[in-house]
Amino acid sequence: MEEGKHTESLILNADEVIKSPGIPNDAPMIVKLKEQGTPVISEIEFAGRYTNAKMICITGSNGKTTTTSLIYHIFKKAGMNVGLAGNIGQSLAYQVAEYNYDYYVIELSSFQLDNMYKFHANIAVLMNITPDHLDRYDHQMQNYVDAKFRIIQNQTPDDAFIFWNDDPIIQRELHKYGIHGHYYPFAERKEEGTAAYVEQDKVYFTEPIAFNMEQEELALTGTHNLFNSMAAGISANLAGIRKECIREALGDFKGVEHRLEKVCRVRGVDYINDSKATNVNSCWYALQSMKTKTILILGGKDKGNDYNEIAGLVKEKCTGLIYMGLHNEKLHDFFDKFGLPVADVQSMKDAVNAAYRMARKGETVLLSPCCASFDLFKSYEDRGEQFKECVRNL
Ligand code: ADP
Repeated sequence: MEEGKHTESLILNADEVIKSPGIPNDAPMIVKLKEQGTPVISEIEFAGRYTNAKMICITGSNGKTTTTSLIYHIFKKAGMNVGLAGNIGQSLAYQVAEYNYDYYVIELSSFQLDNMYKFHANIAVLMNITPDHLDRYDHQMQNYVDAKFRIIQNQTPDDAFIFWNDDPIIQRELHKYGIHGHYYPFAERKEEGTAAYVEQDKVYFTEPIAFNMEQEELALTGTHNLFNSMAAGISANLAGIRKECIREALGDFKGVEHRLEKVCRVRGVDYINDSKATNVNSCWYALQSMKTKTILILGGKDKGNDYNEIAGLVKEKCTGLIYMGLHNEKLHDFFDKFGLPVADVQSMKDAVNAAYRMARKGETVLLSPCCASFDLFKSYEDRGEQFKECVRNL
C-alpha cells in the first residue's frame, strides 16, 4: 500500500486500475495506461461486480445530492434495506464487502460515469443537463452530454429511466442513445406519458400506483426542488413503497447542508447558504426561488461561465452584488453595467460584512457563487461553513 505518493511501475503493471473521479482522463499516468491497453475503471464499476442489489443511480448537472439523499430518506423511512453511495456516504466497495443491502442509492458524477462500462442501473435518474465541468471535456458540450447519458447504458426493458422531460438537451439527445429501459418522464405540467406532474397545486404521480399530494406539503421548496421531489417520488413508487409513506417522507425531509440552507435572520435580513451552487444554472434556480430582494454573493473559480443565463434574474431580484474571488474581472465586466451597488472582496469575512452593510430590512443575502471554491477555500463545504460562521458572528 502507498499513500501520498505512487510508484509508477507498480501502477503500470496492474491488470486493471480503479481511478478516483477527481483524476482527469488526460493525466499522464492515465494516458499511459490507456496507451498500453490497461483497463481504467471507476470504483462503482468495480464494486458493482460483487453485488446483486438493485441499483438506483442519479446523475445530472444539478440536484444529484439532493435527489439521492431524498430517495434514501424515503427508502429508509419505508424500512427498506438500503445503502447510500457514490459521491456521498461510504464507498460502494466498502458497503458491498461489509453489508448485504437489497438496494443502493448512488449519486454519479459525469467523471464516475466516464469510467463505467458494464455496470447497469435498475433505476436511472437523469435530472438535467446544463454546461458544467467543460474544462474536463475539451470544452465540448457533446462530450459532457455523452458522459451523462452513460447512466442508461446496459439497461434492459425491465429497468426504468426517469428524466426531466422539459430539459431541452435531454429532449434533443434522447433518441441517440438507444434507450432500453422503460421511460418515466416528469415535468411541471401534464404531458403525454408523464409519470409525475403538477396540476392545480397538486403533485400527481401516475405509475405504477397513481396518487397525489399537495405541492405545499413538500418539504423542499423552489421549482428545482419540485423536480427533485418528483424524481424521488417516482423512484420510490417504482420500488413498491406505499404512497402514504412516500407522501410522508417527501413532507418531512430536512434538506441537505449548503443547498439553499437557511442560516438565520439578522436585523430583519435572511442569510441563505447555497455554497453548493458551483455553476450558473444552480444559481439561476436559487435566485428564482427568492421571495424578496436579494444581495447576491458570487464568484470563485470560474469553469467557463456564461452569466447571460442569470442576467434577467439579477436585474429583477438583486439590490446589490458582492464579487468574492481572487479574479473578479469577469464579474466586473459582465455585471457592473447593471448599475447595482457592488463590492469586491477576497475573503468571506469581508463578503459578509459588505452584504450586511448593503442589505435592507426584509431583504435576503444569498451565497450562491456560480463558481468552484478552490481559489479562496478548501472546498464548497469550507466556503459554506465560513459563511455560516461569519453570519452568526455579525
Ligand atoms: P449536485 O449534487 O448535482 O451538485 P445538489 O443537490 O448538491 O446538486 O444541489 C446543488 C445546487 O444546485 C443547489 O444549491 C441548488 O441551488 C441547485 N439545484 C438543486 N437541484 C436542482 C435542480 N433539479 N435543477 C437545477 N438546480 C438545482
